[in-house]
Amino acid sequence: MDPRLTRLRLETLLRSLPDLLMPRVCLVCGRQLLPSERHLCVCCEADLPLTHFESNSRNPMADSYNARLVVAGCGMCYQYAVSLFYYGSGSGYDYIPQALKYDRNFGAGRHFARMLGRLVAGAEHFRDVDLVTCVPLHWTRRYRRGYNQAAVIASELARALQADRPGRVLFDPWLLRRTRRTATQTRLSVADKALNVAGAFAVRPSRLNRILRFNHTSRLNRPSRLNSLPRHILLVDDVYTTGSTLSACAEALFEAFGPEVRVSIATLACVPQR
Ligand SMILES: [Zn+2]
Repeated sequence: MDPRLTRLRLETLLRSLPDLLMPRVCLVCGRQLLPSERHLCVCCEADLPLTHFESNSRNPMADSYNARLVVAGCGMCYQYAVSLFYYGSGSGYDYIPQALKYDRNFGAGRHFARMLGRLVAGAEHFRDVDLVTCVPLHWTRRYRRGYNQAAVIASELARALQADRPGRVLFDPWLLRRTRRTATQTRLSVADKALNVAGAFAVRPSRLNRILRFNHTSRLNRPSRLNSLPRHILLVDDVYTTGSTLSACAEALFEAFGPEVRVSIATLACVPQR
């Protein structure tokens, strides 16, 4: 027998060994995965309900987010929004963000965040993003969970954006903090969700100073102070539902950086907007 065939069979066997010991299953349908499949079976991967928002700077999620900002009285220009796939309750795909949030499935979270990162990095309207941050958890919730799922996604987006612009994109998952503990949003009405998170976020002064220092050293040839501030912030969360949490965070960013800054948002999943 050709020795290359023997080597190929051995490699396949070694690759399949972890699956034999601990079978991996599709996050959506639960079917056992083949060695070549990652997190989703080939059928569920093909049916992933992609939003394609990255190819359209004006999309239903961005319209919904901008409408909230107008109500809140901030936002001078149209803010962009992007999400990888639609989050339909009971569709099975809603488990993807939940696997990261509740089941510590960092592998899946990073995998889908990298998919989103590639789309964001390739979109013209995100090319000038210079700061990536995320929706914070209250410290008590973060202490209990041990991590912030939005920070896991944001780190992959920052990595994707930095790929062709090393040193030009700052990633700071600690820029925002929750000023008070808020009730979980899942069981609240649309109006109550907005009330629940209104004014619940603020920029940490220590992190703001760090950004100003970073910009001072990396942009020495830019003379004005305004130019040393970030111009396009990408704010990241796991899921976009009504936009109340993301717009409350954006308000805190506008307050710290001024209305000239653009605060775009990116999430793994998005509830279809009516
Ligand atoms: Zn499947």
